[in-house]
Amino acid sequence: MIMAYTISFNLYPDTIIPTQDTDTEAICLRCGGLCNRHTTRHSNRNGNAGRPYYRCMSCSKFATWADERGKHPGNPPCHCGRPSRRQISGNAKHPPRGVHYVCANGGCWFYMAGKGSDHRQVQISEGLVPMMASLGII
Ligand SMILES: [Zn+2]
Ligand SMILES: [Zn+2]
Repeated sequence: MIMAYTISFNLYPDTIIPTQDTDTEAICLRCGGLCNRHTTRHSNRNGNAGRPYYRCMSCSKFATWADERGKHPGNPPCHCGRPSRRQISGNAKHPPRGVHYVCANGGCWFYMAGKGSDHRQVQISEGLVPMMASLGII
C-alpha cells in the first residue's frame, strides 16, 4: 500500500494560470442545451457518492462535475486555456480507474491520459480511491 503513494502526479510542468472559474451555468457540449445541477446517489462508486454535477436539461447527458475536486493549477490546460481537472475512469473501463485530465468545467472535449514514468496510464488501486477523492487529488 505504501508504494502507491510514490506515484508522481507531476506529469506536466507547473505553469501560472489564474484558477478563478466563472462557474456559473454549464452549457452542454453535445447539444448546446442549458445544464442544471444534480447530486450523484450515495450508492455511487468510484469515490463519487453524493457529488454535485451538471446535467443537460435537453439531452440528459452528464456535462461536468460541479465541485473543486481534481482541479489543480499545475494540471495541463484544456482547450479553454484553463487548468484541467484530474479524475479517474470507472471500474468497467480499460484501464479501470485510469488517471486522466478533462476540461474542469465541461467547456471543451479536452482529454489527456495521466501517464507515469513508464509512459503507461497511471491507475489508482480501488482501496485508495476514497482517500484520494476526499483529499481532492482526483
Ligand atoms: Zn445536451
Ligand atoms: Zn475546456
